[in-house]
Formats: sequence, C-alpha cells, structure tokens
Amino acid sequence: MAILTNITAAFSQSRMITLLDFVLIVFLLYVILYFLRGTRAVYILVGIVIFLFCAIILIRVMRLEVLSWLLQNLLSVLAIAVVVVFQPELRRALALLGTTVSGYRKQEQSEAIDEVVKAVFQMSRRRCGALIVFECKIGMAYITNAAEGLDCKISSPLLQSLFYPNSPLHDGGVIIKDGKIVAAHAILPLAHDLPESRAFGTRHRAGVGITEETDAVAVIVSEETGTVSVAFNGKLIRDPGEAELLAFLRNRLVDSAQKSRLLDQFSAMPRARAVSFQKQNERAGGEE
Ligand code: ATP
Ligand code: MG
Repeated sequence: MAILTNITAAFSQSRMITLLDFVLIVFLLYVILYFLRGTRAVYILVGIVIFLFCAIILIRVMRLEVLSWLLQNLLSVLAIAVVVVFQPELRRALALLGTTVSGYRKQEQSEAIDEVVKAVFQMSRRRCGALIVFECKIGMAYITNAAEGLDCKISSPLLQSLFYPNSPLHDGGVIIKDGKIVAAHAILPLAHDLPESRAFGTRHRAGVGITEETDAVAVIVSEETGTVSVAFNGKLIRDPGEAELLAFLRNRLVDSAQKSRLLDQFSAMPRARAVSFQKQNERAGGEE
C-alpha cells in the first residue's frame, strides 16, 4: 500500500513538474513577445516559434531523424543569429528590465512639455529644423556624455535659439531629462529600416533610431517642410496637431511615467493613439 502511495505521489509530483515546466515556457514566451511587441523582431520570432512547433511535431510523429539532427545543430546557430539581428531590440528590452521606477518630477516635466510644444510649432512655422529627445527610464549617458553638456530650465525661446540656423549647437539633438535640458548637439543612432526611408533624411532617422534603442520620445521638426513628427518605440507619427502632440507627450511622459508597475509602462505605449494620429493623417490626406 505504501509503495502504491509512493508511486502515486511520485507520479503526481512529476506531473506537477511537467505542468510547471510548461507554464514557465508559456510565461517566458509571453514576456518575450510582450517586451518585443510592435517591433520587427516579434513577427520573425512568432514565425520561428511556429516553424519550430510544426517541425517538432513532425519529427515526433514521423520520427524524422535527419530533420531532428539538422534542427538540433541549427538551433544554436539560430540563437546567435537572433541575438545579432535583433541586438537593438534586445538591448532595449534588457535595459528596460534593469530599470527601476524612480520618483518622477511631474511638474517640471509638464512645464517642459508645454515649452517644447510651443517651440516646436514656432520652429515649424519658420521651417527651422529641430530634434528634441525626452529621455525616459533608459539612461542615455552614452549619448549625452559625447554631446555638449547643459543643465538648464527649458523655455521655448531657449530651445528656438539652440536650433537657430548656424548657431554653434544647432546641429544634432537636444536631450531633455527630468524636465531639464541636459545636452545639445547630440549625435543619435540612426534607424535602420524607417518605412519610406528615402523620404526621410538623417534627422528623422536619428529621431526614430533613439526610440528603437531606448524608451525615449523624440520630437522632430523638418527643415525642408516644417512638418512636426513624433517618434516613440521605433515608430514615426507625422504631423500631429499642437493639441494632440501636447496630449500625447503628457500621456506618454507624465501620466504613464507615474505608473509604478513595469508592465504598465508597456501597455501604456500608445498603440491606439498612434493609430488615431494615423487616422487623422489619413483623413487630412483625404481632405486635400
Ligand atoms: P529635414 O526634413 O529637416 O531636412 P531630414 O530628415 O531630411 O530632415 P537631413 O536633411 O539629413 O534630415 O538633416 C540633417 C540634419 O539632421 C543635420 O544638420 C543634423 O542637425 C541632423 N542630424 C543628422 N544626423 C544626426 C544624428 N545622427 N543625430 C542627431 N542629429 C542628426
Ligand atoms: Mg533633409
């Protein structure tokens, strides 16, 4: 009887472990997809997972030994290839995992946003090119250290004079951290695959590039067309209205920054708002 009880216990224990194993794998996949959602990595990752799932079932059912051997040898190469190809996305996800939620200076940040929006639309009217980056939770010291370090309260006139054509610091981006200008003349990483990339030059590619690598938000004014754009999470939204840009920045940089749970930061990535900007752009395009 005792043996029977032991066997049952061992059996249920091993079932529990299998179940735990399964739950952990599902959780791991969920976390990876959650962190990478909205990036180009996620589609390829989903494709790889589906392919592996089908291949494993085929191997098990039909006992395909050569395919099994090939897959085992390919997996390690595939893992390295994924790390190399998706290095920016992985860096961003890991950096976000390592961040702690700090006390946010809500008031300063709100004022900074007001001044930035004011300056940006003034510069847009004058066709003065600008690139302004709001640093969020992922530090950008590797960029600010190489730029012109500043420590000043933001004002619309100050921003406009920084980007004034031919002024010493007008090239590159201005970095804002905790509601203060911390650097100007900053060289940012360029985005690799901006849609319609031929239509955008280096200023726009730099604005999107920094949001691919970090959780920063970048506001760009085109010197050629005066169009204002906002980049976040590797996406570029063109031509938001003044009120919409203000609401977007407040939501992204003040309201969601207040949330304490890390995953909330991700759900706050304003996918819906990106769509609404796009819809607005489509409507504007249709009306023309
Ligand atoms: P615009 O619509 O204003 O012409 P664009 O996207 O077409 O913008 P360019 O015409 O190539 O871009 O803009 C060049 C300016 O972009 C440079 O003078 C410089 O200020 C800025 N810039 C270029 N590369 C970077 C970079 N890596 N980081 C930050 N700023 C950059
Ligand atoms: Mg240009």
